[in-house]
Amino acid sequence: MPYAITSACIRCKYMDCVEVCPVDCFYEGENMLVIHPDECIDCGVCEPECPAEAIVADSADGAEQWLALNARLAPLWPNITHKSEPPADADDWKGIPDKIDLLSERPAM
Ligand code: SF4
Ligand code: SF4
Repeated sequence: MPYAITSACIRCKYMDCVEVCPVDCFYEGENMLVIHPDECIDCGVCEPECPAEAIVADSADGAEQWLALNARLAPLWPNITHKSEPPADADDWKGIPDKIDLLSERPAM
């Protein structure tokens, strides 16, 4: 079962996670990344790399909603394999709870 990215990633988008994934299964939206559940091999390498603690295992409390969100958006967004510049105000959004209303479902440009 795969890992998933939660709303803690929204507007942080540090992208440290994409550098370590052995199967390049991250997909990029305008202000968040998601993991493609059919491609993730459940290695867990990305989880400790996220400065925003936004990556959860499928066994985590409340993981179902994030697994569903990741599964829905990954096929709609482009694949990302290398870290680029995070948003200038990423640190201002780190640790802010309940950011789901700020999610943009638009793909990254
Ligand atoms: S490292 Fe964390 S905050 Fe950054 S893109 Fe990955 S999941 Fe999002
Ligand atoms: S758990 Fe492993 S395979 Fe899945 S997204 Fe993280 S680094 Fe990639």
